[in-house]
Amino acid sequence: MQDSSKAKQGTEQAGCEAQVTGGPGHLQREDLIFIDFDGTISVEDTGIAVINALELDEAWEIEYQWRRGEIDSMECLARQWGMVDLSPAAIYRMIDSFEMDHGFSDMAEAVIQIGAGLVVVSDGLDFYVDRMLGHIGWETCPGEMVLQRPRHCIPRFANRGVVTDEGIQISFPHRSEQCSQCGNCKLEHLMRLRRHFSRVIYVGDGHSDLCAARFADVVFAKDALEDDFRQAGRAYYPFAELADVNALLGIGV
Ligand SMILES: [Mg+2]
Ligand SMILES: [Zn+2]
Repeated sequence: MQDSSKAKQGTEQAGCEAQVTGGPGHLQREDLIFIDFDGTISVEDTGIAVINALELDEAWEIEYQWRRGEIDSMECLARQWGMVDLSPAAIYRMIDSFEMDHGFSDMAEAVIQIGAGLVVVSDGLDFYVDRMLGHIGWETCPGEMVLQRPRHCIPRFANRGVVTDEGIQISFPHRSEQCSQCGNCKLEHLMRLRRHFSRVIYVGDGHSDLCAARFADVVFAKDALEDDFRQAGRAYYPFAELADVNALLGIGV
């Protein structure tokens, strides 16, 4: 952890929750923003929003089994999405009703302007990541393209979900030999990509971010990721929405 050590820890010592002393510094060309999708770029976690919208109460038990580490995310995703009994049109209609954090576009535009890297890394499904980013005007491309700093697409790694008349078919193209917990292992992507950048800036909110975020240089955290970092005494910047992250990175100021 570099200058992010001045983040939340310092403020708690001073007994002042609201003020962060010393920012992470402005976004630079050699930075990689490594950002979660569900609950970070989308306002709500898409899987949870689907469970709630369809009142799939049994899916919560699966969710808790995964959070407790009793099942891996692949089993969790397959069983939860297996409960979704809707036509493709109805699935898309539901996905289209979910809200995005509009600060994401400001962030992506600044990244392109500066020539930095940005990669979306999700342990959710690509069909809704692509569709929801498409809704706010962004095409997506394979995550490895982040090394080329593309100007017209958002590189992303996610699990594959194909919407069919028989339901959503899920596969795991980024499955890791090393990791037994994730479908799309964020830590493995981070370790592989980091050598191409001088600083990794992690932005996330949840359980699938826990192991990877510990290896980033600067961490912006909310919800479960924030709880984990606070309890572990690790430095992080709290955020409520992406505009908060942008402000600390000197984007749009
Ligand atoms: Mg998330
Ligand atoms: Zn993993």
